[in-house]
Amino acid sequence: MESKIEELKARLREIRDLEGAAALLAWDQHTCMPAGGAPARMRQIAILRRLVHERATDPGLGRLLDELRPYEESLSYDSDEASLIRVARRDYEQAVRIPSDFVARLSEHTSATFQLWREAYPAGDFARVRPYLERTLDLSRQLAEFFPGYEHIADPLIDLQDYGVRAETVRAVFAGLREQLVPLVREIISQPPLDDACLHQFFSEQQQLAFGSEVLRRLGYDFTRGRQDKSPHPFTTSFSIGDVRITTRVAENALDEALFGSLHEAGHGIYEQGIDEKFEGTPLASGASFSVHESQSRLWENLVGRSLSFWRFFYPGLQALFPDQLGNVSLEAFYQAINKVECSPIRVGADEVTYNLHVLMRFDLELRLLEGELSVRELPEAWNTRMAEDLGIMPESDREGVLQDVHWYNGVIGGMFHGYTLGNILSAQFFEAALRAHPEITGEMEAGNFATLLEWLRENIHRHGRKYTTFELVRRVTGDELRIEPYIRYLRKKYGELYNIADSNVNQTIA
Ligand code: ZN
Repeated sequence: MESKIEELKARLREIRDLEGAAALLAWDQHTCMPAGGAPARMRQIAILRRLVHERATDPGLGRLLDELRPYEESLSYDSDEASLIRVARRDYEQAVRIPSDFVARLSEHTSATFQLWREAYPAGDFARVRPYLERTLDLSRQLAEFFPGYEHIADPLIDLQDYGVRAETVRAVFAGLREQLVPLVREIISQPPLDDACLHQFFSEQQQLAFGSEVLRRLGYDFTRGRQDKSPHPFTTSFSIGDVRITTRVAENALDEALFGSLHEAGHGIYEQGIDEKFEGTPLASGASFSVHESQSRLWENLVGRSLSFWRFFYPGLQALFPDQLGNVSLEAFYQAINKVECSPIRVGADEVTYNLHVLMRFDLELRLLEGELSVRELPEAWNTRMAEDLGIMPESDREGVLQDVHWYNGVIGGMFHGYTLGNILSAQFFEAALRAHPEITGEMEAGNFATLLEWLRENIHRHGRKYTTFELVRRVTGDELRIEPYIRYLRKKYGELYNIADSNVNQTIA
């Protein structure tokens, strides 16, 4: 068995290294590549992806995984080797089910759709991309059909991002969440709005970046094993556990853009940097799932980065850096500014409370599209109706509506959006568990010390990499199933205080 395990690791390392090379080319493309490099770069990435696909679906790998099955079954589920074989087999089985000519067709179609969307989006011209989106919906259904035996047609699509998470489970969780959020948003909106004008002054890029790096360093993002660059759309990418990079974008008239964007990406980066080194070169060397990844970015961005404790430490430094802009803005006023709730038609940049309503809507629409209950033609109208119901606003055009997110125009329909809100829910559940184990974390944050929190995350979540699925991890970490209550408690307490809303119905709504 020893030699078979070694052979498996060697094969998987090759796949990992090819993926790492492709990721590096993509990182370069989005950060520093001159425009002239684009045509060749697309070819270079495509050939690497093809090599990855060939190796990932090699029948030899399948045979090896079969031969290792009895050995896997002799080991405990939690052991590193059983986990490696299990996750490698899951990847293999997913990859071989999808025929390569379908992969090629889908990728050709998505790049054509994306090109068109780039023109249709600024023009707010949904009719232009509609036939393409109809084809995307077709292809998304076909993709699901390669995995027969599902309960809901979205399940196989979710499995590709978040293994084992079922559409019906998410639908039930989200319905419960919506029931809490819609009234909470109403209560908040009925109060006088908070003032965030202090964030919208001139803040030089260089000073913003310097401040941001200092914050990230203190949180625990390791610059000897990563770096931060600028890109039009912020992202995190990893070439190995020792090289996890993040990007940011800076707006000189909006202080929150780079700051919270960086905290968000650093959360992703800190997660990947914290994976146990022994998993290097294996499929276990990445985050557990899209939603768990998002839980880490949201935890640092929101639960930590938008908390009063955090700014008790960092705000004097920020004021000293920008005395003209913030010298006369009190800590409390700044805290209110970064937590202003506002019903806006745009998901990106939405506050913590309204954000999830944007996601819940997209998830529901995706399910209805996949179920055949809603046609692409009816989509813009369904979108706008739901915006009016949940947030009380009407997008002015499809640019502010159904065209605003790239996801459906650059991939399949289904499997992605739910992860953003599951991530938010999980961030609160994990943070509550951390505080239960270490109530001193809040006090430490006020002193600019994040070591206990980071250590707890490392120990309970990061080091395991992809060993456990989302729900397995939640159970291990919190001793409980995924629940919305910690998240609702968090939002109610924080925003109840910020907006002077009595929390009389907290207990009653959660009971
Ligand atoms: Zn993220």
